[in-house]
Amino acid sequence: MKAVVFDKELKLVNDYEKPVPQKGEALIRVTLAGICNTDFEITKGYMGYKGILGHEAVGIVEEVNGPDKSLVGKRVVSEISYGCKEPDCPYCAQKLYRHCPNRHTLGIWRKDGCFAEYFTMPTEVLFEVPQNVTDEQAVFVEPLAAACEITEQLHIKPFEKVIVLGDGKLGLITALTLNAQNIDVILVGKHQNKLDIARAQGVETKLLQDLKVEKTYDVVVEATGSISGFETALALTKPRGTLVLKSTVAASKEFNLAPIVIDEITVLGSRCGQFGAALRLLKSGKVDFSPLISARFKADDAIEAFEKNKEKETLKVLLEF
Ligand SMILES: [Zn+2]
Ligand SMILES: [Zn+2]
Repeated sequence: MKAVVFDKELKLVNDYEKPVPQKGEALIRVTLAGICNTDFEITKGYMGYKGILGHEAVGIVEEVNGPDKSLVGKRVVSEISYGCKEPDCPYCAQKLYRHCPNRHTLGIWRKDGCFAEYFTMPTEVLFEVPQNVTDEQAVFVEPLAAACEITEQLHIKPFEKVIVLGDGKLGLITALTLNAQNIDVILVGKHQNKLDIARAQGVETKLLQDLKVEKTYDVVVEATGSISGFETALALTKPRGTLVLKSTVAASKEFNLAPIVIDEITVLGSRCGQFGAALRLLKSGKVDFSPLISARFKADDAIEAFEKNKEKETLKVLLEF
């Protein structure tokens, strides 16, 4: 089968062996997939991963290895991690597969990804896509779930002031999601054209240069991925407020953490979320991610798609299989 593989370099392989579903797994035929920054990081050596890339996809279940065949023929999305499922694993018991110490993560860690004609995943992490949700929306379910994780971790009260920093994919998806969850949110960034995507869906936006940096926000979400973004985020957080870290600010520079102590700020790391809430939000039609799609490529042009993904102005790049 066709597959986008990373092994020292990125390549398109035409004769990769089609996977065979193991016990409890389904075989999924990919229809549409999305390139994520994590995929790009992997091509630079992140996680030391080798194998088929990709963890964001929509597809059709063709086969299930197990007694329950109810998913066969269904259009599904897959959570990205599955755990050891050992009876004494406290994370698997709570379905927190993404924290299981022996987890496998699609296209990132110990599991071939979904940039291929087929991939396999255990049926318990597959979710049927509601009929009214198109492939183009469903392919955003993983980053959307990651945005939903904020309100799973933190109770944001109706009177609280919330601000999201960063108008890249991460910031846009986070702001659109919080807005759809009825939270009063301001999105701040450096690019008017990107801010306009959120504004068109009812989000209040502001250019960074017009923002008054004062400690007035109850909840500040850092989604810039830069040290200066982190510093601005900290400077916006009210005493006793919460700073939510969404991007993995690869901290190699020294910065002053004293304000966290002086202002008793809660710092909350926030990564992936569960798919149920994300799919409900997509089904409701309260968010529309189509303006984030910058380009669509056929699988044969996958290398070109990765090049496009590198361009600064690019938001989401999709791959058709
Ligand atoms: Zn992703
Ligand atoms: Zn486990």
